[in-house]
Amino acid sequence: MPRILVTNDDGVHSEGLRALARALEPLGEVTIVAPLGDASAIGHALTLSRPLRLEKLEPGVWAVDGTPTDCVNLAVTRVLDGLPDLVVSGINTGYNLGDDVTYSGTVGAAMEGTLLGAPSLAVSVCRQREYDFRQPAWAGAEVARVVLERPLPARTFLNVNVPPRRAHGFRATVQGRRRQSTTVRQGEDPRGRKYYWIEEVVSDWDPDPRADIEAVRAGWISVTPLQLDLTAHESLDFVEGLSLGAPAGVE
Ligand code: MN
Repeated sequence: MPRILVTNDDGVHSEGLRALARALEPLGEVTIVAPLGDASAIGHALTLSRPLRLEKLEPGVWAVDGTPTDCVNLAVTRVLDGLPDLVVSGINTGYNLGDDVTYSGTVGAAMEGTLLGAPSLAVSVCRQREYDFRQPAWAGAEVARVVLERPLPARTFLNVNVPPRRAHGFRATVQGRRRQSTTVRQGEDPRGRKYYWIEEVVSDWDPDPRADIEAVRAGWISVTPLQLDLTAHESLDFVEGLSLGAPAGVE
């Protein structure tokens, strides 16, 4: 039976995590190792400056007081004693689309699984007032089923985003491009000191019919293959052509 590691960034008590784990149970032996608290927007962070605690909450469910990436590392080395056959991260409450994937702890966990050599996927659903995890849990399990049957290309993982209403089906997409803007609200704390709060802004996207954002907007489940290599290969010539000087002042 395949071993499936389930993690997330919303925390071990998140309903989306449990719904995903339940949906994956027919496919293999499911182990949950997830952050104790909310670790959203923590990206691919790894905790190196303090000890981590691993706590068994119930059979097959572990909590780590760290990041999703910490969870994957502790799962592989201390809980499963080896790589799982699949890492599934989610279900995140809120899309992880386009350029936002670099902030995402949900995607970060799938990145870490991939780096360590396990097939990995991230599953997110549209932000809603009342969540119904049935469709995203089914979608995550359906993608997991085919990934267990057919290995992913090397160093590649899948980012799955599920629209709120009944979807038409799955669509292969590319990472959309956001026209980035930022809002930082200023306030004053009870001691009279200023504070700043970064707000999530609704921004425009570059039009691209193949983009993940377009797929979910049109009612499809978006599946984007992502890779860890951030090299802008087409810009290597540009860097090689820069007139960079010889090192000076170095013996
Ligand atoms: Mn989250």
